[in-house]
Amino acid sequence: MAVEDSTLQVVVRVRPPTPRELDSQRRPVVQVVDERVLVFNPEEPDGGFPGLKWGGTHDGPKKKGKDLTFVFDRVFGEASTQQDVFQHTTHSVLDSFLQGYNCSVFAYGATGAGKTHTMLGREGDPGIMYLTTVELYRRLEARQQEKCFEVLISYQEVYNEQIHDLLEPKGPLAIREDPDKGVVVQGLSFHQPASAEQLLEMLTRGNRNRTQHPTDANATSSRSHAIFQIFVKQQDRVPGLTQAVQVAKMSLIDLAGSERASSTHAKGERLREGANINRSLLALINVLNALADAKGRKTHVPYRDSKLTRLLKDSLGGNCRTVMIAAISPSSLTYEDTYNTLKYADRAKEI
Ligand code: ADP
Ligand code: MG
Repeated sequence: MAVEDSTLQVVVRVRPPTPRELDSQRRPVVQVVDERVLVFNPEEPDGGFPGLKWGGTHDGPKKKGKDLTFVFDRVFGEASTQQDVFQHTTHSVLDSFLQGYNCSVFAYGATGAGKTHTMLGREGDPGIMYLTTVELYRRLEARQQEKCFEVLISYQEVYNEQIHDLLEPKGPLAIREDPDKGVVVQGLSFHQPASAEQLLEMLTRGNRNRTQHPTDANATSSRSHAIFQIFVKQQDRVPGLTQAVQVAKMSLIDLAGSERASSTHAKGERLREGANINRSLLALINVLNALADAKGRKTHVPYRDSKLTRLLKDSLGGNCRTVMIAAISPSSLTYEDTYNTLKYADRAKEI
């Protein structure tokens, strides 16, 4: 199936090694072969990988290379830019979005793998939440003669199975299903940024309002799912005719870390959090799996199992377009996380 035709695209982004990883004398465990292929844990050729060797020495107990080849809709190597990722992910679903289909884009992966960098980005190098919104404005402006439109954005998080508004901090907020409007989060604020700068400022501010708790795994790890949504309402400008209003929603989601709670030695409060994060993340995985099984058949899709999946009920499956961006680190320091993420991303391709 051509990439454009599938309802789910799965891409992988390998981030550059951090200074710590480079210093660690560990080896890279990911080899990007081309735009669509990567090898996990490649067998090291005699003399090492040209250009791939960091420390020069081997790991302690050297595991035999698994040499697993994976094929995805796209593989972004460590030199890839935010523009590259944007062009081959959200950009490719914008047409469908403007035709009225709901779309969702997830960043999946362990803490530290590059999810927030990809979705939000950093100062001077904004991620796809920003790039998508700006491109959307550009396209809508180009169609201003034929259509009138309204764009609203919202930014919320699911943390500990509670929904909080990130732009006007409040919560927990309740979810309701409206027969006309679809999924509605009661009390969530909607905004119309007047400029690209204002949008960037909102994203940054919203991200600062995310719930962050230090864990053993990563001092700045985020256990929350951050959900940035863009709503577009369009109507044809045809004089004398009442034209149907078309509404569509794009959800861009920076998921909580996919590493298992057990590996962070979580206890007490953190453990409960961990269990709940797994609840939304596991529910999402289950929903995607059920959608894969449901192809052409009637199967129960367990949307109701978590806040995240209830929120996204009208944005997954059916005619919706979905992009999964699996973020991974290249280092053997995160061998298990990377392997798990690749295995999951590979399974998601079945959808
Ligand atoms: P996550 O959100 O998955 O926990 P981050 O996005 O915070 O991970 O990334 C971890 C660190 O790696 C951050 O310091 C981030 O700036 C850096 N990083 C991630 N991806 C890239 C990239 N593609 N290029 C450069 N730095 C990156
Ligand atoms: Mg993050």
